[in-house]
Amino acid sequence: MGEIILTVKDLKKYFDMGRKKLKAVDGVSFTLKKGESLGLVGESGSGKSTVARLILKLIPPTSGEVYLFGKPVFKMSKAEEKMMRRKVQIVFQNPYMSLFPHLTIGTNIGEPLRIHNIGGEKERRKRVMDLMELVGVPLEYFNSFPHELSGGQQQRVAIARALALEPSLLILDEPVSSLDVSIQVQILNLLKELQNKKQLSYIFIAHDLAVIEYISTTIAVMYLGKLVEYAPRELILDKPLHPYTQALLEAVPVIGHLKRVYLEGEIPSPIDPPSGCPFHPRCKYRKPVCKEKKPELKGLGENHFVACHLY
Ligand code: SF4
Repeated sequence: MGEIILTVKDLKKYFDMGRKKLKAVDGVSFTLKKGESLGLVGESGSGKSTVARLILKLIPPTSGEVYLFGKPVFKMSKAEEKMMRRKVQIVFQNPYMSLFPHLTIGTNIGEPLRIHNIGGEKERRKRVMDLMELVGVPLEYFNSFPHELSGGQQQRVAIARALALEPSLLILDEPVSSLDVSIQVQILNLLKELQNKKQLSYIFIAHDLAVIEYISTTIAVMYLGKLVEYAPRELILDKPLHPYTQALLEAVPVIGHLKRVYLEGEIPSPIDPPSGCPFHPRCKYRKPVCKEKKPELKGLGENHFVACHLY
């Protein structure tokens, strides 16, 4: 632990929507160290997946910086970008959609090795078999096709493929949301095991705090493109400060001792966000100032940041 592998600085992504702008990501900053897991949580439309796409340089930012392994992602040379694409991999929500349906499991997992011209055929086959063993996919599936496997097995294959190039950072975008609860636990346990074995860093994106809390060392709560609370896992779970974080925790059955907070309505449109604190229409603690003034993310004690006029 210790080495910072990812720094995100005041990252913004606005989309033009006629005369208005959709502020999908609006000034997000965080860092991630080797071996850590940052859980990015928020409802659908909070901007979590856009942050992932920006980090991976799949879309250009409106402004802000991303540094991977100390290098500015948006100013990388082609060679640096190629290396970055080896070191950072993404796993998506729907494993079936992310695998090539007409390729066998063995070929799917070995595809990144082939694309990056790594090893001969024999060597690649051995590496694929090792990866299948690592993620718990029986070798008898080597020549099967994705549709012949269960959702959980398909996600294991997708994880094996993501690991083929020995990345340092995995971005996991809702990787268990489409799976049954019992399978979710198995995949989360696998991810934890892999992290310990390989000192991987994770950005784990989910709308469900129960999933995030299981795997994260740090939790960042997003609402309408902004971070509203950011702290080590224990602080978020034991002392959630933002009313939105408290409301999300209400959905987590094991957190029985927290007082109930009522979360009204749906997340507003990011094209026309509410004035002042964007959470104010749904917040039972709102004060007159909340409608008028945007709360800034500020530090309260060590490592605990919150954007709320209550503090
Ligand atoms: Fe609620 Fe006001 Fe805090 Fe926003 S700033 S979360 S409206 S108390």
